[in-house]
Amino acid sequence: MKKQTIFIATALFLTVSTYAQNVNKIHKKAILIDTHDDVLSQQINSGYDLAKEQPEYDFDLVKAKRGGLDAQVFSIWCDEKGDYSNAIREIDSLYALLKRHPDKIALATTAEDLRKIVAQNKLAALIGVEGGHMINDDLAKLDELAKRGMIYLTLTWNNSTAWATSAVDERGGKLKDRALGLNEFGKKIVKRLNELGVMVDLSHVGEQTFYDAIKLSTKPVILSHSCVHAINPVPRNITDEQILAVGKNGGVISVNFYNGFVMPNHEEYFKTFLDKYKDEYRALRTQNSATAKKELMKRHSDEFAKIQPSIDLLVDHIDHIVKLIGIDHVGIGADYDGATSYPKGLNNVADYPKLTEVLLKRGYTEKDIHKIYGENFLRVLKANKGK
Ligand SMILES: [Zn+2]
Repeated sequence: MKKQTIFIATALFLTVSTYAQNVNKIHKKAILIDTHDDVLSQQINSGYDLAKEQPEYDFDLVKAKRGGLDAQVFSIWCDEKGDYSNAIREIDSLYALLKRHPDKIALATTAEDLRKIVAQNKLAALIGVEGGHMINDDLAKLDELAKRGMIYLTLTWNNSTAWATSAVDERGGKLKDRALGLNEFGKKIVKRLNELGVMVDLSHVGEQTFYDAIKLSTKPVILSHSCVHAINPVPRNITDEQILAVGKNGGVISVNFYNGFVMPNHEEYFKTFLDKYKDEYRALRTQNSATAKKELMKRHSDEFAKIQPSIDLLVDHIDHIVKLIGIDHVGIGADYDGATSYPKGLNNVADYPKLTEVLLKRGYTEKDIHKIYGENFLRVLKANKGK
C-alpha cells in the first residue's frame, strides 16, 4: 500500500471510531426510558428468569444493559378475556424478579425514584396497565393497582370497555349501537386517575375517547406506544389534530417501533409474505403464532428484509411530531415483546444505540436526544405524581 493510501485509511478509521465513541458517549449519558414492553405477559407462563439472556424475548436485563436502557415500563396486559386477576399475577411476577435481583433492578413510581435508581446503575422498573378491562368496572381496583405501583392506565386495549371505546372499534365502525367515547363512569375514571397521580394513557383509545379524556384531564397525558397517522393511516396511529391536542395538554407521545405502525401497507405486505410460506407457517404454528412468525422471518430473512422499514422511517414519525408540536412532546415506546417485527437493526433492547446514531445523523442534538429518551417522560410523570 502506498504511504498516502495508508494515511487516508488511518484517518478514515480514526474518524469513524471517534464518531462511534461520540455516539456511545451521548447514548450512555442520556437517561433512556422505554414506556412499553410486553415481556411480562409471556414471562408469567414461561417462568424464564429475565436477569439472564433470553433469546426468545426482546427484553431481558442482559440485553437492556448492553443497549444502555435505563428504565423500562412493563406493560401489564391480557386480552379481552382476562381481568383484574391477570393484572395482579403479572405485577406479582415483576415483584418476584425485583426480589431475586435487588442489585440489578428496582421499582420506581416517581421521577425522583427513577433518577435515584438509574444513578445506582440499576434498571428502573415501572408498571403500566394496558387495558381498562382489567379494573373489572370497579373504581376500587384502580386504587389497588395504584397502590401496587401503576404509573399509567391505558384506558382501552383493542377492545372497548363498557365505559370507553377503542380505536380499533371506533375506526372499524363496529359500534353502531352505542355512543362513542367515555360514558359517565369513564369520566369518573379519568378524574380518579388524576387524583391518584396515575397518568392517563391514550394509546389504543378511539378518537372520541381521546378527546373526551384529554378535555377532562387536569394533568398531562401520555401515549405510551403510538405512531403518526399522516405517515401511515392505520387505526392505531394518531392524527395531526390529536398530536396538536397533546401539544396543548403538555403530554408526551412515545413512538412505537412496530413495523405495521411505522411503514405504510406493511401489514398487507406481511400477509403476502405469510401466504408465500403458508405450508411452512402452518407447520410452525404448533408453537404460538408470534414465535412461528419470528421463526419464518428468520428463515427467510432476505425476503422479509424487502418489506422491513429502515430506522430512518421510524425517525420520520419523530420528525413529524417535533415539527407539529416541538421537541418536548416525543418519547420512546418501542412495544418490544408485543409486536412481531421492528425496523432493520432494531431487533431488541440491545439495539437502542443504533437509533441514537440515526438521530444524530438526522440533526438531533445531544440535548434533543436527552428529551426524547427520557426527560420529556420524566416531566409528565412528575406533573402527575407531584415528584
Ligand atoms: Zn398495545
